[in-house]
Amino acid sequence: MIKTLRGFRDIYGEEWDKFWYIVETFRGILGRYNVRWIDTPIVEQAELFIRSVGEFTDIVQKQMFIFKDRGGRNVALRPEGTAGIVRAYIENGFVPPVKLAYFGPMFRAERPQKGRYRQFYQIGVEFIGYDGSHADAECILSAYECVRGLDVKAKVYINTLGGDDAKRRFSSFLKDYLKEMDFLCEDCKVRREKNPLRVLDCKICSPKLEVPDIMEFVDEEEKRDFTKTLELLQKFEVPIERDPKLVRGLDYYTGMVFEIKSEELESAQNTILSGGRYDDLVSELGGKDTPACGWAAGIDRISLILRKESKKDELYFIVRTSDEYMDIAFDILHKLRKCGKTADMIFDRGKSLRSQMKKANKLGAKWVVFVGEEEVKSGRYKIRDMDTGEESIFTI
Ligand code: ATP
Ligand code: MG
Repeated sequence: MIKTLRGFRDIYGEEWDKFWYIVETFRGILGRYNVRWIDTPIVEQAELFIRSVGEFTDIVQKQMFIFKDRGGRNVALRPEGTAGIVRAYIENGFVPPVKLAYFGPMFRAERPQKGRYRQFYQIGVEFIGYDGSHADAECILSAYECVRGLDVKAKVYINTLGGDDAKRRFSSFLKDYLKEMDFLCEDCKVRREKNPLRVLDCKICSPKLEVPDIMEFVDEEEKRDFTKTLELLQKFEVPIERDPKLVRGLDYYTGMVFEIKSEELESAQNTILSGGRYDDLVSELGGKDTPACGWAAGIDRISLILRKESKKDELYFIVRTSDEYMDIAFDILHKLRKCGKTADMIFDRGKSLRSQMKKANKLGAKWVVFVGEEEVKSGRYKIRDMDTGEESIFTI
């Protein structure tokens, strides 16, 4: 038998209901932020991600599904959304400022575990042409309100990379500082040479490291901006905590970075949303110098902690005592739908009333509508409330 590939899965039933619920909730809340929705291709030139996410990141080095297409070009399944959105922003000549939101599957070949899959879904926003602490606060507020809208308990962890210069100064300091540390894992021994900031993002090494606070490398103006962002978030009652080691696993971030974590998930997979400022990416990909920030939420992980069941519509199930009444049952089915109800019936012929009732139960029908000789003659139809057993009559 042919089965799904390792790390890939079918999503159906309750879980897929939850996905929709998450997307619809986010969509409602993001609408108030005046976002426009966009869909970009799942397959892009590999170069796009190598240039934006960064050549020496885990995503590009180890996790990207990359292959040659029939024309021999290097293409990749998108591992994240921002690079494609920024490419689309430039390619389609969008005029800043714009807030673009997206939703769809991302692909990373990492070790599969609970809350970590090779195809997973993100919903995210990019605020392109937005600068300053109010924009940073708006970005984080939009993320937090979406998560709150789901009634999920979560906290925001925030840091700043302090802009280009500070990031460079801190990186070059780290390069020296990490030279002597022989307890670093094999990956981090490479990282400290190629991309020292990434060592702080390593789930094994980072907790063992004591490094100076990046704030020591950040200039006064950037510090003031960051403090203002924190003040704005506090004013709007966003629970925040500064995490001086938070650097994020993608290279394009330049200023504030943040993650929203849920305590209900295991710590290796407890980040449900993350984002930050990436002021160099638009120009890096060939556009005009444009400040920007954004975030992405992992829908698969959020669905694991979602308590609220997605509200299902009440189902009306039409049963018939004989196939003679098929046409009438079919009419009623469509009338109910015209009235906005969710309705269904069995179409197989020769099914007993008993087996139709069984099906109604199995599908969790709230109402069963009976179509029998008596009903058809009188035009008065019996309808049963499956929770209480109460019956009433309606006419058509
Ligand atoms: P992690 O540190 O958990 O690997 P990340 O830093 O790689 O996360 P991002 O690239 O920032 O994650 O992606 C944003 C969100 O997408 C994450 O916070 C997470 O909720 C989700 N996500 C990332 N990778 C996966 C995956 N393999 N499976 C499921 N969800 C994922
Ligand atoms: Mg990761």
